[in-house]
Amino acid sequence: MDRNHTDGETKRNDETAVALLLRSPHLDVGQIMELMDIGDREFREMAGRNETIARRLEERRLGTLRELKSDPRPCKACGEWFLPYGSDRFCSDGCKRTAQLSACRRRTV
Ligand SMILES: [Zn+2]
Repeated sequence: MDRNHTDGETKRNDETAVALLLRSPHLDVGQIMELMDIGDREFREMAGRNETIARRLEERRLGTLRELKSDPRPCKACGEWFLPYGSDRFCSDGCKRTAQLSACRRRTV
C-alpha cells in the first residue's frame, strides 16, 4: 500500500513538471516526453486525467499559449522543473541553502 502511495506522488510530480514544460513554446511534446522519460501512452493518460495538461495542449494547438519570461529549467539541487526568475538556478530558498551548505562542505573537506 505504501508503495502505491509513493507511485501516486511521483506521478503527480511528473504531471506538474509536464504542465510546466508545456508552457514553454520552445519545447515540443516529443522533447518534453524525452525530458520526463515518459511514453506516448503515458502522456495521453496524463492529458486525460490532468486538466492543466489538457488545457496547455489545447492552448498550444490554438496558439494562445502565453509567452513566458523565462524557460523552465531543472533545479540544480533537487532536479524539479521550475520557472526561474532571471538566472535562478534553484527552485526554492531551501534548495539554494542546501546547495550552499554542500558547497561549503566540499570546500572544507
Ligand atoms: Zn529544488
